[in-house]
Amino acid sequence: MAGINCIGILTSGGDAPGMNAAIRAVTRSAIYSGFKVKGIYRGYRGLITGEIVEFKTQNVSNIIQMGGTILKTARCKEFQTPEGRKMAYDMLQKEGIDALVVIGGDGSLTGARIFATEFNFPIVGLPGTIDNDLFGTDKTIGYDTALNTIMECVDKIRDTATSHERLFFIEVMGRDAGFLALNGAIATGAEAAIIPEISTEVDQLEELIKNGFRKSKNSSIVLVAESPITGGAMSLAERVKNEYPQYDVRVTILGHLQRGGSPTAVDRILASRMGAAAIDALLEDQRNVMIGISNDEIVYVPFSKAIKNDKPINRELLNTLRRLSI
Ligand code: ADP
Repeated sequence: MAGINCIGILTSGGDAPGMNAAIRAVTRSAIYSGFKVKGIYRGYRGLITGEIVEFKTQNVSNIIQMGGTILKTARCKEFQTPEGRKMAYDMLQKEGIDALVVIGGDGSLTGARIFATEFNFPIVGLPGTIDNDLFGTDKTIGYDTALNTIMECVDKIRDTATSHERLFFIEVMGRDAGFLALNGAIATGAEAAIIPEISTEVDQLEELIKNGFRKSKNSSIVLVAESPITGGAMSLAERVKNEYPQYDVRVTILGHLQRGGSPTAVDRILASRMGAAAIDALLEDQRNVMIGISNDEIVYVPFSKAIKNDKPINRELLNTLRRLSI
């Protein structure tokens, strides 16, 4: 931790429940270890424009239970240019910030990695995304809350679905990852999940119809991961209308409500542990790493690994869903 006195913290990209718990944990652990802390608003944009405020312990009081992020988040095109990143670097120098903790998803950590290398600047990342798509960590901050939200919504849809004889496609988030769709399907007793990871292997819609998904049921619920690879729920419904017109199909797109809500205990604890671990990492002179959790232990994952590798889906889950949906 040579030469670090002041740590800057920002949230970037898509927001996720639990980001506030992470901001609190980073701030409090940093102050506990004698560092000064500065909150940077609106992600990398605030780093360029200088929307920066010193954080004391009371700045993060009463936020652990709140969804969203008190630091706000943004997408910043300028940070993708060398000129924009130079402006960000100059701002860090001006503000006396010697290290950064970046909370965000794949894109934010990609930006962090480029910046850290370009300016030899210490950065530790925290995986903040509901998609759970970062490699090297079993879970990301926000994933459990989003999964619980999906579960509550699908339970409600099932009430109406069982009153009619219908096929329901429910589209959930996940970018190019099927974790929310697959685990959401298991948690709600859905008939199937259509996910990008196996889209190139099988025609999942055809498989679903061939397996006679309605044989012993009067309604069927299928969770679909939003992704250009699966085509999303709307295009699957179109296909059903054209190819299997005997089915009465309905689509629900859960959309942004999946990002909201008070974080679950799992996410609050995960964010608190990871936030504290970010400060440990800086104390240990770690840089260019993302904090991960593996078998309930904190791990340091090099940015290069966390971003570049596709996190594999657990095939056992797919198998379980297939067996339980007969
Ligand atoms: P997420 O972090 O949720 O994946 P985005 O992909 O939108 O969200 O990325 C958030 C921000 O991270 C972008 O608006 C940009 O400022 C920064 N970023 C993403 N990719 C890069 C890149 N290749 N180079 C520099 N900055 C990047």
